[in-house]
Amino acid sequence: MKNGLKKKDWMLIGIIVCVAVLVTLVHVFIGGKGASKVTVKVDGVIQGTYSLSEDQEIEINGGTNILQIKNGRAKMIEADCPDQLCVHQKAVSMNHESIICLPNKAVVTVESSESSEYDAVAN
Ligand SMILES: [Zn+2]
Repeated sequence: MKNGLKKKDWMLIGIIVCVAVLVTLVHVFIGGKGASKVTVKVDGVIQGTYSLSEDQEIEINGGTNILQIKNGRAKMIEADCPDQLCVHQKAVSMNHESIICLPNKAVVTVESSESSEYDAVAN
């Protein structure tokens, strides 16, 4: 009995490892040119870093801005700022491209996973 359980456990582990490898492979294939991510800063403080390879919607600054990540591109889809300039900016996907919402002090910057320099803060 104990042996049987152990075997089952190992099978489970094997399956988990297989799935993990598959997921990684899929990410590499879909991500293509290196997995990029976006860094979200509010008032100069990093709120978070999000992968561009995962479709998601991110609330910035407690919901004043909504950033949408879709098909490897990031776009500001909602903002409560008066000028709405950030919403009208085009989607970003290239390294160092950014979306800036001046009234809300929100900055979204694309960074490739290889270089992690934060020198593009000042503008
Ligand atoms: Zn804005």
